[in-house]
Amino acid sequence: MARRSITETSPIEVYRLLPRTNCGECGEPNCMAFATRLVNREVSLESCPPLLLPEHDSDLADLSALLAPPVRAVRIGQAEREITLGGKYVVQRHEFTYHNPTCCALAVDDTLAREELVQRLRTISEFSYNYIGRDLRLDAVALRSATGDPDQFREAATTIAATCKLPLVLCSPDPDVLRVGAEAVPGRRPLLHAADRTNWREMALLALDTDSPLVVSAPDDLSGLRSLTKTLRAWGIEDLVLDPGTFVGPGLAHTIRNFSRCRNAAIRDGDELLGYPLLGAPIAAFAGEELDPVRCAFDEALTASVLLSRYADILILQGLEGWSVLPTLIWRFNLYTDPRKPVAVEAGLREFGSPDRVSPVLVTANYALTYFTVESDIKAANISCYLVVADTGGLSVESAVAGRYFSAAGIAEALESSGVAEKVDHRVLVIPGLAARLSGEAAEATGWKVLVGPKDSSGLGPFMKERWPPGPA
Ligand code: SF4
Repeated sequence: MARRSITETSPIEVYRLLPRTNCGECGEPNCMAFATRLVNREVSLESCPPLLLPEHDSDLADLSALLAPPVRAVRIGQAEREITLGGKYVVQRHEFTYHNPTCCALAVDDTLAREELVQRLRTISEFSYNYIGRDLRLDAVALRSATGDPDQFREAATTIAATCKLPLVLCSPDPDVLRVGAEAVPGRRPLLHAADRTNWREMALLALDTDSPLVVSAPDDLSGLRSLTKTLRAWGIEDLVLDPGTFVGPGLAHTIRNFSRCRNAAIRDGDELLGYPLLGAPIAAFAGEELDPVRCAFDEALTASVLLSRYADILILQGLEGWSVLPTLIWRFNLYTDPRKPVAVEAGLREFGSPDRVSPVLVTANYALTYFTVESDIKAANISCYLVVADTGGLSVESAVAGRYFSAAGIAEALESSGVAEKVDHRVLVIPGLAARLSGEAAEATGWKVLVGPKDSSGLGPFMKERWPPGPA
């Protein structure tokens, strides 16, 4: 049966099920404001203490059902490093912001010598890349049993438990191997990969014994996947993740079709048996006939970017080179950014180098990509200056000028609130070349002489050499 989309749930509908006392314990001014935030998934039901009282049990149950995502949310990892997989409400990003970014789990296997394993774990844990002000990181470690030897798997799992706090995925088709691994990481709530039609009973028992989420695997067989899921649910296992199989190269189209069918069936058709997070394994690129490691890493990155878009909630990856893993992390960042909220930096005054009382004063927009480009160009050109970042609603200079978010009045306000006038003896402001048409009005509004800078901040170096210090007004 098709289920209602999240976008069809109204705040009024939610409000009617709240206690409606407007007590403010949730931090909102009233219940209606809380209802609106609930519909936007900005707060959880637990934030309303009165709702948790026994007399509201029935309303709480109705609200939980009303707000439940069609793709179940599954938690992996221990409390402080826990990750939620799935919890998706929509198929397309433009319908509603995507939640719970795809988890990127980097593989290690039990053939690695202890030093090699520790070194790779350190690289995975410490991986960080600053992209327009946000640190992009890897999320989890996937330990694979390459030897099939329980003792070796236990040893590797023990090393991981001792050296790395990231959530774990334990991978082996052998339930006995997986059991010793799970027992070596008590309290870590690892994701167990995987139950299939040959081992599901033992895997189900293991998941129940260790209270761990379980992957259900049926490569290229969606009816088999549904059937296994149904059986495991009947055994009382609710925290499942589906692995419909990942095929690289010519099989990629097949993979996309299977992932898309699962997600559409769950969200558009209300198929609860496919309403679970999806696991993709771009690492399969390393298992084919292709022996060139660069080609394998390229195929893995390509498969990862496709599965990020269609609709993997966790990816198992091998490549740890920046050039192969960064496209995945950057694409994930962009995909999971709220399209309603431009990526912005805080407005205000920034100082670069060692600015003094005759240093240039520049102004720019607070769109993150603009800001970090300007920052990087200022640093590259070694310019000591003050940069006033105006609040343009997170829009770039050109868009903000067109939409009147970057205006002469806005520049005057930003200049005033920055306090930069106290720091310099001159009254000369450099505005972006893309805001040239504001120069006259800006001069009038600020009382400062306005210089029109380059259209591209990469031209700031030559511009400053030629135009700074400016001549007398
Ligand atoms: S805590 Fe609950 S009852 Fe109180 S204002 Fe918030 S939503 Fe309403």
